[in-house]
Amino acid sequence: MNEGVLISYVVAAILFIFGIKMLGSASTARKGNLLSSFGMLIAIVATLTEANLDYQWIAAGIIIGALIGVVAAKRVEMTGMPELVALLNGFGGAASFLVGWAQYMALYNNQEVNIPYFEASVIFIAIFIGAITSSGSLIAWGKLSGTMGGSPITFYGQKVLNMVFIVGTSSLGVAFTILGAGVSGPSILYAFLALSLLLGVMLVIPIGGGDMPVVISLLNSLSGLAACAAGFVLGNVVLIVAGSLVGASGLILTVIMCKAMNRSLINVVLGGFGGSSSGSKEFKGEMKPMNVADAFYVLEAANKVLFIPGYGMAVAQAQHVVRELSDLLENNGCEVGYAIHPVAGRMPGHMNVLLAEADVPYEQLLEMDAANAQLPLTDVAIVIGANDVVNPAAQEDPGSPIYGMPIINAHQAKTVFCLKRGQGTGFSGLQNQLFGMDNTRMVYGDAKSTIASLVNEFKNTD
Ligand code: NDP
Repeated sequence: MNEGVLISYVVAAILFIFGIKMLGSASTARKGNLLSSFGMLIAIVATLTEANLDYQWIAAGIIIGALIGVVAAKRVEMTGMPELVALLNGFGGAASFLVGWAQYMALYNNQEVNIPYFEASVIFIAIFIGAITSSGSLIAWGKLSGTMGGSPITFYGQKVLNMVFIVGTSSLGVAFTILGAGVSGPSILYAFLALSLLLGVMLVIPIGGGDMPVVISLLNSLSGLAACAAGFVLGNVVLIVAGSLVGASGLILTVIMCKAMNRSLINVVLGGFGGSSSGSKEFKGEMKPMNVADAFYVLEAANKVLFIPGYGMAVAQAQHVVRELSDLLENNGCEVGYAIHPVAGRMPGHMNVLLAEADVPYEQLLEMDAANAQLPLTDVAIVIGANDVVNPAAQEDPGSPIYGMPIINAHQAKTVFCLKRGQGTGFSGLQNQLFGMDNTRMVYGDAKSTIASLVNEFKNTD
């Protein structure tokens, strides 16, 4: 590797690190993203100058890939972002296993019989992790986009079968590493590639309910590790660095998500997730509707209001009118805050991103524990399209798939307004007893129009 390329890689790696650091705050996140993208541009240009490549194919790949990327990024709605991220993880995994496969075939076709153990093992790891990530991410995409049902798919002996797949794939990997290209030929590679793809599917299909965030961030981390292994396969320093950064930051996010869901990482890795798909109790109580005018009178008299946003706020794109209502409440002498559950919405930080877009002051955002301390003192909790993250079944129903997941205790507020369109369940498909509690009132309708009507009520009384 020539010195210029090496220096470019170091610069790119530094830009990645600063870029990630800047993603930590909403105010610097855009610049961080640009900085990292610039780092990636440097890395790509440096790589293209280093190797003796067939530029026709590369140019075709860049043009087609860039076109698909630009169109997809322009067209994706904010609510479709999690599916796009799942697909991108999948493509990352697929790219890594293709690199491992291609490298092996190049060695095999050159009749390099004795592949060194290290090279063979990184080829195996790139294919193994890359294939699990790509097929697992496709299933995650299916679940998030609703293309396939979101409920867990489980069957008798599933965990044993998963163990058989894991042991089988690892044994083939060891055999592949020891036998080298000459003796084993590509047949072992095809066998463990197929098993790894199956394993990715098997690991993700039993996941449902509230456990998807953990698996999405784990797949993200795995896509980084697969890229890192591909970097070792190619001997490409910047790919190793970038892959390690994605792998490590994804792992940190996975641990944070595990904490949010009250699961241990070991429990997740060993396939103890997914939980029972039954479990949900019959709905008790009666959902009591309230119209906007009556809701306004309650809010006008409130001294303390907490907004609890969820996925429905993202669907309705209600964040700007929520901010407007929040300002009107403050002008009316009311104390306002936002209770943010770590897995509300469909991607980590989803609510923070939306509220930052509406310039909600950062100090009004309360993390779950802080919000729960405030809720018993709160006059009105306004649940905006949130469901699973305020479902008391997580505390009260041991048979529920979300049992044990920490929730925002909306039910502890004096009055709870639940803003949703109808009787729809949340992501986990469970009934929510909060909606039938004595202190809860259902304000039906699209969250944006409901809040806009409340805003009008406030403006009309001024
Ligand atoms: P939920 O998905 O549990 O509930 C959303 C609610 O919003 C629904 O009950 C729906 O009811 C309502 N809704 C939908 N559209 C609108 C609208 N336009 N106006 C008003 N209401 C609307 O959301 P939560 O945020 O509470 O929970 C997130 C769930 O997603 C958790 O189970 C979490 O584990 C999972 N998840 C989270 C990820 C993450 O990283 N954050 C990733 C993957 C999954 P109705 O149809 O009646 O209107």
